Amino acid sequence: MTELPRIPLAGVIGHPIAHSRSPQLHGHWLARYGIKGHYVPMDVAPDDLPQALAMLPKLGFVGVNVTIPHKEAALKLAHVVTDRAALIGAANTLIFLKDGKIYADNTDGVGFMSNLHQLAPKWQAPDGPAALFGAGGAARAVIAALIEAGIPEIRIANRTRLRAEALQADFGARVVVYDWLRAGDMLQGAALVINATSLGMTGKSDLRLPLDQLEVGAVATDLVYTPLMTPFLIEAQSRGAHIVDGLGMLLHQGAPGFERWFGQRPQVDDATRSAVLGQ
Ligand code: NAP
Repeated sequence: MTELPRIPLAGVIGHPIAHSRSPQLHGHWLARYGIKGHYVPMDVAPDDLPQALAMLPKLGFVGVNVTIPHKEAALKLAHVVTDRAALIGAANTLIFLKDGKIYADNTDGVGFMSNLHQLAPKWQAPDGPAALFGAGGAARAVIAALIEAGIPEIRIANRTRLRAEALQADFGARVVVYDWLRAGDMLQGAALVINATSLGMTGKSDLRLPLDQLEVGAVATDLVYTPLMTPFLIEAQSRGAHIVDGLGMLLHQGAPGFERWFGQRPQVDDATRSAVLGQ
C-alpha cells in the first residue's frame, strides 16, 4: 500500500488558550494558500508542558506557538535556541526538527518591527529616542529589536522600577530608566512611544500617564490589541501622533513560524487583519 503524505499539524499552547487569535490567523493563511494542514489551540497546564512537547512531534506536529505562561519554560526545554530568544529569555515559536530536537525562536521583536515598518513607513530606528512604558516579557523583545535596528536611546518607565533596572543591566547604556511617576518626561524629543504594559486591555485599567510632552508627528504604538484603539492611542492621536495599533505585531510575529511549518511565506495585509478580527 502506498503511504499517504502526512498532513502537517501545528498549534498554539497556552493556559488558558481560548482568548488566542492565533488559530484564526493560521487558519486564514492555510485556507488562503490552499495548504493541507491544521492549526489547533491546546490548553496545557504548566506541569504537563514537558510531556506535551515530547509527544506532539510523534503525533504529527511540526511545531507550535507558545504563549502565556509557557514562554520561559519552553525556552528551557528546547535543544537549539536562537540568539534573539536567548537574549529575550523566552520562546514563542517552536519547530520540531526531524532528529527529535526542539528549535526555539522568539519572533515578537520581528513582529513589532515589521508592524511599524508597514504602518509607519517613514519612521526609522536611528531617527531618535524611543520611550517605552513597561518592562515585562514583551518589553524585552521590543528592546532587543530596537537595539538591533540602531535606536540611539530607549527610555523606560515601569511601575516596578527594579524590573526596568534589570533591563538596563541586560541591554546596556542605551537604556535609560525613568521613574514611573515622572514617565511623561520621557516623551520629550522621543520619535517613538510604546505601551508595552498590559494597561488599556479590555478588563484592565487605562494607561493614565500625562502625554502633554508627546511630540507632534511622533509614532505612538500599543502592544495591546483588545481593544484595537486603546485609550493611549486615542489620546496620542488627538495630540498629533502617528498611531500604530498592536494587531499587526501579532500577525507579523506569526509569519516566520507559518513559513517554517507549512513552507509558504504568508502575507500580512488587510485581508489578514479582517480574518483575525472576524470581519
Ligand atoms: P508581562 O510580562 O506580564 O508584563 C506586564 C507589564 O505591564 C509590566 O511592565 C507590568 O508592570 C505592567 N503592568 C501590569 N499591570 C499594571 C498596573 N496596574 N499599573 C502599571 N503597570 C502595570 O506581560 P507581557 O508579556 O510583557 O505583555 C504586555 C502586554 O503586551 C500585554 O497586554 C500583552 O497582551 C501584550 N502583547 C502583545 C503582543 C502583540 O503581538 N501585539 C505580543 C506580546 C505581548 P510591573 O512590572 O510593575 O508588574
